[in-house]
Amino acid sequence: MNLTLASADGARLGPEMAALAHSPLAIRGLTVSYGEKPAVFSVDMTVTAGAMTAIIGPNGAGKSTLLKAALGIVKPLSGSVTVFGKPLAEARGRIAYVPQRASVDWDFPTRVIDVVTMGLYRELGLLGRIGAAHKARAMAALERVDMDGFATRQIGQLSGGQQQRVFLARALAQGADLYLLDEPFAGVDAATEKAIIAVLKTLRDEGRTVVAVHHDLSTVRDYFERVVLMNVRKIAEGPVDEAFVPEYLQEAYGGRLATAQIDQLSLAGA
Ligand code: ADP
Ligand code: MG
Repeated sequence: MNLTLASADGARLGPEMAALAHSPLAIRGLTVSYGEKPAVFSVDMTVTAGAMTAIIGPNGAGKSTLLKAALGIVKPLSGSVTVFGKPLAEARGRIAYVPQRASVDWDFPTRVIDVVTMGLYRELGLLGRIGAAHKARAMAALERVDMDGFATRQIGQLSGGQQQRVFLARALAQGADLYLLDEPFAGVDAATEKAIIAVLKTLRDEGRTVVAVHHDLSTVRDYFERVVLMNVRKIAEGPVDEAFVPEYLQEAYGGRLATAQIDQLSLAGA
């Protein structure tokens, strides 16, 4: 593949600029702070297209904050986000987001089908109407996660695993190119975990890009090709074999993981 791009004025871009232009999500110098102490500090990240990337790090490491900044939900103190080579505002429609489930609170009754069609409002605009074609798309997405039988149920009455499948269906209905998921497997049953990973791998096989905050270190090697290890700062980024190694795990987790555990994890795929 030729990594040198010609820009509009005919000048040649270097390999670094070309990588940025091609990347589904390129983050540079990102710092986010809620108070005095930054939650994310000076993070660079270049997501590889058509791969599954895990964002890993201890509780409070800034993983959710990083995703939210990538989506423009929280405003960074400094840094830049480009999506498929464009500023976030221009390419936001190509991203689907599945938030951390615990952060969604269903106080008023909402049907499953409505949760899924809500994902289409960005495309429709606030005044757009959901038509038959949109409903069909929503139902097809529910079918992909085996939840089509629940379309008229209240979301609040479903189990955690079922809710998570519905959120994934909402993301699928958008037909996005980049999927950002925050701990999609947290608190779900084994069947849901299997169903979700199967759908994510299908998306990857279709050439779409998946980035997930992931908390279960024992499944990293089975599920992902690339990892970003972080603890406020980025510690490592790359293919699992290069970045998911004892040295970096130790640096990210410190005393929170026993050394024996770290050795076991990183040797699991060897
Ligand atoms: P992770 O997802 O890795 O567990 P978070 O991004 O949720 O980490 O949080 C990073 C840090 O920012 C934590 O110290 C957390 O307490 C703090 N934080 C997260 N969200 C907020 C918020 N809305 N207001 C203030 N502090 C926050
Ligand atoms: Mg989080």
